[in-house]
Amino acid sequence: MDFPSGQHVRGDTLTRDEALDCDVVIIGSGAGGAASAWRLAEAGLRVLVLEEGRKWEPHEVSTRQSWALRNLYAERGTSVATGNIYLPMPRGRAVGGSTLLNSAICFRTPRRVLDRWQRDFGVPWASEAELNPVFEEVERALAVRKVPEVFAREHNLIFRKGVDALGLAGDFISRNAPGCIGCGLCQLSCPVGGKGSVDRTLLPLALGKGAALFSSTRVEKVLVENGAAVGVEASGLEPVTEAPQRKLTVKARKVFLCGGAINSPMFLLRQGLANKAGHVGNHLHVHSASGVCARFEQVIDAWHGVTQGYYVDLPGRPAVLETFSATPEIYAIQYEAYAKPMETLRHLASCGCMLGDEAEGTVRPGPSPSRSAMTYSVTDSDLAIIKEGMRETARIYFAAGALDVHAGLVGQGPVKSLDELDKQLAAVPLDKLSIYASHPMSTNRMSARREDGVTRPDGETWDVQNLVIADASVFPTSLGVNPQITVMTCASVIARQQVAKG
Ligand SMILES: Cc1cc2nc3c(=O)[nH]c(=O)nc-3n(C[C@H](O)[C@H](O)[C@H](O)COP(=O)(O)OP(=O)(O)OC[C@H]3O[C@@H](n4cnc5c(N)ncnc54)[C@H](O)[C@@H]3O)c2cc1C
Repeated sequence: MDFPSGQHVRGDTLTRDEALDCDVVIIGSGAGGAASAWRLAEAGLRVLVLEEGRKWEPHEVSTRQSWALRNLYAERGTSVATGNIYLPMPRGRAVGGSTLLNSAICFRTPRRVLDRWQRDFGVPWASEAELNPVFEEVERALAVRKVPEVFAREHNLIFRKGVDALGLAGDFISRNAPGCIGCGLCQLSCPVGGKGSVDRTLLPLALGKGAALFSSTRVEKVLVENGAAVGVEASGLEPVTEAPQRKLTVKARKVFLCGGAINSPMFLLRQGLANKAGHVGNHLHVHSASGVCARFEQVIDAWHGVTQGYYVDLPGRPAVLETFSATPEIYAIQYEAYAKPMETLRHLASCGCMLGDEAEGTVRPGPSPSRSAMTYSVTDSDLAIIKEGMRETARIYFAAGALDVHAGLVGQGPVKSLDELDKQLAAVPLDKLSIYASHPMSTNRMSARREDGVTRPDGETWDVQNLVIADASVFPTSLGVNPQITVMTCASVIARQQVAKG
């Protein structure tokens, strides 16, 4: 078929097997895939993006959690890592990838992280001097700005009240949600199209420069000849059953793998690619998080207002406390003692401690192309910081006038003082904590030393020429802040280096 420049094609509409030529084929349309497409198309290359999930418009999505899990989340929202705890690890599967259902929080990569990448992994461009101009370009393209107070609403403002009362240095969070109306449904995608997820920002910029996008199209294999990637084999998918239909064979000068930190290593392991040093699927880092809920006299209605609008750093730790809101049913499950009478839900505010971990897990292919098998065990030192963050969150809520605070510990109810909470936290075994992890990273880490990583610092795999990885899997370490800006910035740098290499 002719290259469908500037167009979106649904893989399930192909009526026969097809073949295409392009300069670069990109696997996955999330943060890394879209940023790569944007940069490569801008450089005048013919770019094809293949995405296994569907393309959704705001008017097509439902505001029901169950619908979102079924249609927008990989593995129907059931992916979990097992170890000394069950760790839910959701991720997106749609045009836009996880950015379609993220909270739009934007942080630049912390300096301490960049220093470590440069010192321990030899990544030459990991410095603020190199990256600040790229952060600025990415933030401009996504229309990042600080949450306006008017959209923060009570569940963010009550947290700020506690932060101010304790003299801490908190702030409103910067977000890529220029059309946000504060309806609190970000993690079900945005029903008003107010979020600058990459399906609405970077991908249209790439298509505007001649790139093409296939949705409902799963890449099954990288074609390799004489040690170099030369294209991919993909199938259009029936959108509901995911059954493979027509074949699409793509010839390309370079293949960019941007399937995310869970799918990308699974993809390489299934095909036995790029793993001579044995790092593919290892070193899984996450941001483990645990939320604390507080009950106030006044009405909060946490589901109104920006989902995550205010933050404060946990001093001296690679961790940040961020407010969050969820749908009423999630509150009722997580903080059961607050669920009756239902009226109580209107008086709750919540905030989570999100930690850049030192622990490492693994990702392996699961029993079918879309299933993962992951392991992860929380270490004692990471657990100590999570508990410290939960205590600090409770201290902030008490300073804001909370009646009581619920740490979501299984079998434990709310407490009225920090002393009581300390006793609960000291006695609770790890598996009674509700820990959650939404940011997988580092499973194909980059390193300047072949024996330490899967890719070089310019993203090309050490073992397969012209196979480039540009997603959250290449981070050498955990970040300690929400990762989408780092993913897009790293992908931008990698794409530009590949253009320069020719
Ligand atoms: C619920 C939730 C909330 C979050 N909130 C925030 C936030 O507020 N701020 C922030 O900075 N980060 C947030 N994140 C994380 C952030 O969105 C991710 O870190 C980022 O999107 C990762 O980018 P990626 O390119 O690595 O992968 P993804 O964005 O996940 O994209 C990978 C894409 O590749 C596709 N794919 C995989 N394999 C194939 C294949 N074989 N063929 C075709 N396509 C394939 C997948 O379907 C998917 O669409 C959140 C994540 C989640 C899940």
